[in-house]
Amino acid sequence: MAHPNKGKIMTVLGPVEPDAIGITQMHEHMIIDFLAVGLDAQGSHAAAVAGADSVGIDWFEPISLSNYYAVRRNPFLLKEAMQLLDVDLVTAALQDYRKAGGSCVVEVTPIGVGRNPGMLRKMSEATGLHVVMGTGFYVRDFQPPEFATMDEEAIADVILKDIEEGAGSPAVRPGIVGEIGMAWPMHPQEIKALRAAAKAQQRTGLGLSIHPGRDVQAPLEAIRIVEEAGGDPTRTIICHLDRTIFETKDFLSLAKTGCYCEQDLFGWETRHYPLSDIDMPNDAIRVDNIMALADAGHLDQVLVSHDVDSKLRLKPYGGEGYQHIIENVIPVMRRKGLSQADIDRIMIENPRRVLTIS
Ligand SMILES: [Zn+2]
Repeated sequence: MAHPNKGKIMTVLGPVEPDAIGITQMHEHMIIDFLAVGLDAQGSHAAAVAGADSVGIDWFEPISLSNYYAVRRNPFLLKEAMQLLDVDLVTAALQDYRKAGGSCVVEVTPIGVGRNPGMLRKMSEATGLHVVMGTGFYVRDFQPPEFATMDEEAIADVILKDIEEGAGSPAVRPGIVGEIGMAWPMHPQEIKALRAAAKAQQRTGLGLSIHPGRDVQAPLEAIRIVEEAGGDPTRTIICHLDRTIFETKDFLSLAKTGCYCEQDLFGWETRHYPLSDIDMPNDAIRVDNIMALADAGHLDQVLVSHDVDSKLRLKPYGGEGYQHIIENVIPVMRRKGLSQADIDRIMIENPRRVLTIS
């Protein structure tokens, strides 16, 4: 079925023309709750949860200057860092982003991890920002138990119904499929949910955003599954590449599939990454990865964002906020030789293209 809003971008306040949208963060959270399932069920966060066990910090203590460095290294140390539910706090942070020149936020919290259509709508109204909501399901720990027995068509129907009818009251319609969560190795139930998401992508013309497992092979494997299920790799975003692949050759072989290559952990400058054994790049190295993609002719596939998912990422809690890329990363892009036209492609034109319903 063709989407009734083909050629437009679907925001939480309804469809808009693509050129209504300017600078866009492609992967953020405004409301998210990692405690929607218990800590014991956090298989895909196992490394961080295990790390939290060995540090003598009380999980219930508030975020403070004396535990700040430890919890910034590993947010799983404190309960307070695992939920972003404070609407006033987030609204103020979004206002900073708007003041800095931001126009649109893509809010990819999956169903089951605290997605809150009504709150997204309220925050869009309060800030004047365009907000695009996601749909679909995260890693297996967060999927509904009935997925164990549902087939991929039935899961695709759940996503399609969400896209067609919207969620909440008044109904809020998703404008992107994702972030679809995959662990590594991939669980068969995650493969089923990704195939369902790819079918929903293909049938509606929405873009598809995938959180790949933490392994260098995971991005290409996810693209292979999307293609096999009938989805369009050129309408697919592979997220979190800054914690997944590290060598230029791997960025280039992924870009050759035609997908969007998203580094969305800008602002996470610490070398320590609690969820896998990797050397986390800093923002300057993330920009080097963009330069390598640009040099090989793949600038039109580059997307960036912060993946704000905790209070720790917002200014009142010592964080950088949703405006960090505009304020601090665009100057690095310029210093390393990207032109204003290049920056506009990354920040405006590529987001517009992938968000425009095809
Ligand atoms: Zn995310």
